[in-house]
Amino acid sequence: MSVNVSVGACLSCAADQAHQPYLDGRLRRCTGCGLGWTVPESGQTPARYDLDYFTGGGYEDYFLTAPRRFEAGRRLRWLSSVVGPSVLVEAGCAGGYFLEAARQAGFAVTGVEVSVAATRFAVDRLGVPVQQGHFEQVAPSLRADVVCAFHVLEHVADPRAFLRAAWDVLTPGGWLALEVPNIASAAARRLGHDWPGLQPRYHRWHFTPESLARLLAAAGFDLTRQDTAVFRYYMPLGYRVRHARRLLPRDWLDLRSPRLTHRRRGDLLRVIARRPRDTRSGR
Ligand SMILES: [Zn+2]
Repeated sequence: MSVNVSVGACLSCAADQAHQPYLDGRLRRCTGCGLGWTVPESGQTPARYDLDYFTGGGYEDYFLTAPRRFEAGRRLRWLSSVVGPSVLVEAGCAGGYFLEAARQAGFAVTGVEVSVAATRFAVDRLGVPVQQGHFEQVAPSLRADVVCAFHVLEHVADPRAFLRAAWDVLTPGGWLALEVPNIASAAARRLGHDWPGLQPRYHRWHFTPESLARLLAAAGFDLTRQDTAVFRYYMPLGYRVRHARRLLPRDWLDLRSPRLTHRRRGDLLRVIARRPRDTRSGR
């Protein structure tokens, strides 16, 4: 039985209530909205995003062309369901494959990336414009109709500061597209420590559909669209077939959609939110 420990107000729901240890105390979790955060181990050094991280030291290779282009195409199709070609900034663009796809679709693109190695890859190999640095620091020089951040918010020191920076980059009525791991997913609950989306060495924050929605609302954004996808959603068909033997029957029972998306039980949580057109701000 868990012991409740009060550690102050929740980042997402502002509930000043008990927070529970989760996964043997490696994480803590808000009992109000489900937001989790990693408890740093003593002596732990901050996560580094060097070449090793982006070539499999993290958890996947960001420079593999075929799967990254497949993934970029799926994300672009999802984004294009709400917004057409316009000015787009991607925070944490890694190797730049999404920027490449968006530019081909007619968007005017700029990336921001903290890793020197990834920035160099995006600029030199794909020829997309990327500024090296932290998004929150580069943001004042940027203006866009769309801000994207795929698998970034779970890494940042302060998600609220990140959302404020995105707000300031966006024109009124502009769109914010985010994707993060979903710790409320069926697989996360079943696999616990072994869930590939957990990554406590790198992920400071662990979002649920509710906690991310509350965080966005508190930052003044209007939530337009939210769903989840399983990891396989972003894998090319040949890859999925080769890995089919790993799938458990329960995966299929939970997620039988041929599109590999689900309202809330998939591994990856996706939201599209909007900065309101008027000047009000909930911040
Ligand atoms: Zn909370």
